[in-house]
Amino acid sequence: MIGDLTEVQLQVQRTFADFSDREVAPAAIEHDAEGRFPRELFRKVGELGFFGMRYPESLGGSQADTLALCLAAEELARGWLSLAASSMMQAIMGTWFVYRSGSAELHERLLVPAIRGEKLGTICMTEPDAGSDLKSIATRAERDGDGYRLTGKKTWITNAPIADFFTVFARTPGGLSAFVVDAGTPGLTVGRPIAKMGMRSSPTSEVFFEGARVPASRRVGEEGQGVEFLGEILPPIRTVTAALAVGVARAAFAAARRYAADRKQFGKAIGEFQAIKLKLADMATEIFASTQVMRAAARLADEGASSAGTAAMSKSFASESALRVCEDAARVLASYGYSTDYPVERYLRDVRFTLIGGGTPEMLKLAIAKELGC
Ligand SMILES: Cc1cc2nc3c(=O)[nH]c(=O)nc-3n(C[C@H](O)[C@H](O)[C@H](O)COP(=O)(O)OP(=O)(O)OC[C@H]3O[C@@H](n4cnc5c(N)ncnc54)[C@H](O)[C@@H]3O)c2cc1C
Repeated sequence: MIGDLTEVQLQVQRTFADFSDREVAPAAIEHDAEGRFPRELFRKVGELGFFGMRYPESLGGSQADTLALCLAAEELARGWLSLAASSMMQAIMGTWFVYRSGSAELHERLLVPAIRGEKLGTICMTEPDAGSDLKSIATRAERDGDGYRLTGKKTWITNAPIADFFTVFARTPGGLSAFVVDAGTPGLTVGRPIAKMGMRSSPTSEVFFEGARVPASRRVGEEGQGVEFLGEILPPIRTVTAALAVGVARAAFAAARRYAADRKQFGKAIGEFQAIKLKLADMATEIFASTQVMRAAARLADEGASSAGTAAMSKSFASESALRVCEDAARVLASYGYSTDYPVERYLRDVRFTLIGGGTPEMLKLAIAKELGC
């Protein structure tokens, strides 16, 4: 069985499920067609507490556990992955290092409003020549008096076109380091949004640094702590991405099941044909299994017993499984699975993000094998 949820976890799940059904899913179609970021809904995600779930009450958060965060993310993704993914980046990656190692001034000025959904934070790791191989990040942060000057190019940065602040990984003499840079800093420019196959309302851009100057107080953590930071942030983002994948898979299954009951061919509902029943059974099994793996990884994190391997397993398994479920849903709908009048084509386009973001399946499997000593 899936296992018991606590009263708090059930409450979180109900709150986000209700929001997702009432406001998120209905907004998805129009926004996605126009590639428009849903600013108002994003703010509401903040009002519901999603961005503060990892942070203490003193900063406006709720210090919820990982499983509760996953349940909320799953429900948001069931409604619309663009909103869920942009929200996840804010709740986890875009704000974590400001919280973890930022000054009281950064907490007050950036983190607290970000938790409310009033400011937007991003994380800039990926570069044109540093995707899976983040240790080869080439962006430089050179000492300049009592500060640093950043030079380099980042790419695939979620929420960059609308961001208020950027956590940037750059090379310093002491190794890889992290800096928090305000939007509008001279020398920082954001490129045009990248035209994407899916998640069209979650804006993604290149970010250019041409001698952008930041005071030393904007370095979060020590010089050279960047590699440790990457190792710290990747496991949680992977388990929450697994939850996003489960959410999209559930939406695809629900759409396929509805369609199978409604659509008639050869004088009966197609859901009465064994071929369709088998697909629905396979999809339900995939969702059951990926839910188990995702929740197990989240629970291990909450018990302080998780590892890079268990987090990698959750994302690798759930994202591949969700892709199969979305593909099967499209087959059940046949021509209507190819039509923008139904959401299934969007699920199939969007879900591919869960394979890539936070590490490709190949890199995750290598991480699992490494932990096994293989
Ligand atoms: C929608 C979207 C949003 C994103 N948001 C952000 C963001 O906000 N911030 C950010 O920093 N990044 C972000 N990313 C970037 C993402 O994390 C990277 O795209 C991802 O890590 C993979 O890097 P890459 O695309 O350069 O692929 P590459 O590293 O070039 O990989 C290409 C292929 O080679 C394989 N490969 C590479 N190395 C090995 C190896 N050693 N062994 C076996 N196979 C290997 C990969 O698995 C893959 O199949 C985002 C990406 C997307 C698509």
